Amino acid sequence: VLQKLVKAEKLQIVSHLAASISHEVRNPLTVSRGFIQMLSEGEATQARKEYATIALQELDRATEVINDYLTFAKPAFDIEENININEEVQHAVNVIIPLANMNGIQVKLSLVEHHHYLAKGDKKKFQQCLINIMKNGIESMENHGEINIHLDYKDTTLHINIQDEGAGMTQEQINRLGEPYFTTKEKGTGLGMMVSYSIIKGMNGHIHVTSEHGKGTCFSIILPVQAYKKKLISNTLSLT
Ligand code: ADP
Ligand code: MG
Repeated sequence: VLQKLVKAEKLQIVSHLAASISHEVRNPLTVSRGFIQMLSEGEATQARKEYATIALQELDRATEVINDYLTFAKPAFDIEENININEEVQHAVNVIIPLANMNGIQVKLSLVEHHHYLAKGDKKKFQQCLINIMKNGIESMENHGEINIHLDYKDTTLHINIQDEGAGMTQEQINRLGEPYFTTKEKGTGLGMMVSYSIIKGMNGHIHVTSEHGKGTCFSIILPVQAYKKKLISNTLSLT
């Protein structure tokens, strides 16, 4: 119980921290970008133009890190839209395939084609969650193997299963998943799972993990959804 309390408290602190970081740091990055851009224009020598290009690239990279990990932290503003799960899963897979292939990994996706599954939430955040989990799957495998993504629908609940054939986790690692800054990677941030858990919680769902050390891991994103037969939806659309 104490461990859980500490975890919750840490999570709250980091969420606040994340919110202020993304606000406080994004602005100076944008301002610097503008000035460097101006310095590189007009009279600047070739060398200066090159330095400016590098500086701009690095600023963009920093912004990207903030976008990747901290967009969820926007304190007030939260979009609530209909999310078509099939579409978003397909989109996330399209985004992740180049990274997988670069690492010699195949991505297999099987959707339930006859149905639409609609959930409520923020599409961008949901994308972030899917990508964070798929990315971990890729990083857990040593340049070969498969990630299998399949959907399973039961009684208004959709399971999005993301199964890898990677290193797996010990029970201790599983317990620490989602804890801010928990990472076993040299260049890890330990923010990916924390972000993912908080996004799915915000959609009234949860994440279930099964993992076998040395064999692989399956992350199941479990969400309350509304299911529609595809035909019904296209009829409705053609009427409007
Ligand atoms: P990071 O990827 O930056 O380390 P995450 O929060 O995404 O941070 O993941 C935290 C840790 O959880 C990882 O360092 C790894 O130890 C473990 N982990 C997450 N996903 C997997 C997976 N699919 N297979 C094995 N370990 C995983
Ligand atoms: Mg990660």
